[in-house]
Amino acid sequence: MAEVEIPDDHPRHDSLVTRHRIEAGVEKGITSQQGLIAQGRGEAFDYLLGERTLPSADAAARAAAAHLLLAERPVISVNGNAAALVPAELVELAGVVGADLEVNLFNRTDERIQAIVDHLRAHGAGEVKGREANARIPNLNHERAKVDADGIADADVVLVPLEDGDRAAALADLGKIELVIDLNPLSRSAQVADVPIVDNILRAVPAITVHARDLADAPRTDLERIVAEFDPETALADAERAIRGGELV
Ligand code: ATP
Repeated sequence: MAEVEIPDDHPRHDSLVTRHRIEAGVEKGITSQQGLIAQGRGEAFDYLLGERTLPSADAAARAAAAHLLLAERPVISVNGNAAALVPAELVELAGVVGADLEVNLFNRTDERIQAIVDHLRAHGAGEVKGREANARIPNLNHERAKVDADGIADADVVLVPLEDGDRAAALADLGKIELVIDLNPLSRSAQVADVPIVDNILRAVPAITVHARDLADAPRTDLERIVAEFDPETALADAERAIRGGELV
């Protein structure tokens, strides 16, 4: 991939890597053209954050890891941007926490679902859900509501990177524990999340995996304490403060 040509110490390294991957995702039919716009919006926030992970975002990644380890039926929802940006990292995280992967698209077509399933499998995934689409999330129009009955519909904890605000709200209404990765602390997705991780998905997914490995043998009481001590409002306020007042690096 062209990203090998970008030196690690390039000041806009993450942004350039991300653009290359999204572009390749569109070319492969994985990412929709709308995904390019979503990426541009995210990139602006990452620029203002200085393309770094805030300590509060790392604490959120740790709380997300604890939730995933405590879950009975965790599912990682994968859209076209997530699949293009971090396919191997999502497969790795799913393996570490024992979660299912489910393709779930805003602009749903069978071709794109299949392309993403194939892409995840090429990056090491076993079964990937999302093709059955035999259940519905209430209060959303037909296409956007489709999920698998034994996947997201039945999950107790769902990780939704870069989710559309309406769907994030509808999932939260179902009483599921929702872990959201979104660079915009003001987005509805981040606002309705039990755990909003305000960070680039490129950094956030590997961070959750590192924490999950670290916590894999921790007693349930420790995991429950990490979850209880995490406060989403504080994390969002910290990210907003950093974005509004931070010094550009
Ligand atoms: P809202 O949640 O306010 O309704 P939206 O549903 O319209 O927003 P989109 O325009 O679909 O949101 O954008 C997707 C969201 O994903 C944006 O909030 C953007 O900041 C975020 N985002 C885009 N790329 C990344 C990335 N690489 N890492 C993390 N977040 C990202």
